[in-house]
Amino acid sequence: MAALEIKNLHVSIEGKEILKGVNLTINQGEVHAIMGPNGTGKSTLAYTLMGHPSYQVTQGEVWYKGQNILELEPDERSRLGIFLAFQYPVAIPGVTVANFLRTALNARRRAENPEDKGIPILEFRKLIRSKMELLKMDPEFAGRYLNDGFSGGEKKRAEILQMAVLQPEIAILDETDSGLDIDALRIVSEGVNALRGPNLGVLVITHYQRILNYIQPDFVHIMLDGRIVESGGADLALHLEEHGYEWVREKYEVVES
Ligand code: ADP
Ligand code: MG
Repeated sequence: MAALEIKNLHVSIEGKEILKGVNLTINQGEVHAIMGPNGTGKSTLAYTLMGHPSYQVTQGEVWYKGQNILELEPDERSRLGIFLAFQYPVAIPGVTVANFLRTALNARRRAENPEDKGIPILEFRKLIRSKMELLKMDPEFAGRYLNDGFSGGEKKRAEILQMAVLQPEIAILDETDSGLDIDALRIVSEGVNALRGPNLGVLVITHYQRILNYIQPDFVHIMLDGRIVESGGADLALHLEEHGYEWVREKYEVVES
């Protein structure tokens, strides 16, 4: 069973240290949640794991399947089975959801086997239809331009569909709940739950507890000022919901620099 192991990760943006020594292990089959006030580095962690060039790793390692993935390009990380659902997905007018997914899937296949001719169109249609059924999505959705004029809920659902088609082994969901009304939140969460299983490790990054009512985490971590300061079970999220973040700040005495 593969585990994603984050060890003493320090990350800077434009010379300012944002992550100050993050340690976290996510085993396949586990759902972890990272919660924390805005500006504490949650998205920085997500982008760093995917290899965004603006985020400079100054210390630490991230091990997955016997490799320090920090040495790999984003597409190589994706091929290893790591997937990031963005907090702010970008629109690609002119490219349909189906075409985008087919291109992404074929890129992965070709990376594994340069001779690959791509997934046959009928097989692809069958695949995408079954995944959309699983996620309770209208088949028409596949013919729309990616994220172009999508509602917040539709964008997030497109991200989850992408996850369903690419079948990652580690999925990082960065504030998948932000901007969703309760119905959209439920549908997106059901989608993630439908993909949950022994072969998928999930990191749910969120500011609010409510998504964790739907996606039950095995472990909850609180991030504050670039560090994970508390870890616990699902009850830790409920505690935050009730008491807010103030007690965490007081306990760890963050002095603004
Ligand atoms: P969170 O997701 O927990 O709200 P972020 O990781 O987005 O926090 O941000 C952490 C800190 O890094 C914030 O102080 C933010 O202003 C800063 N930051 C994030 N992205 C950039 C960037 N591209 N350039 C400069 N500063 C950034
Ligand atoms: Mg964020």
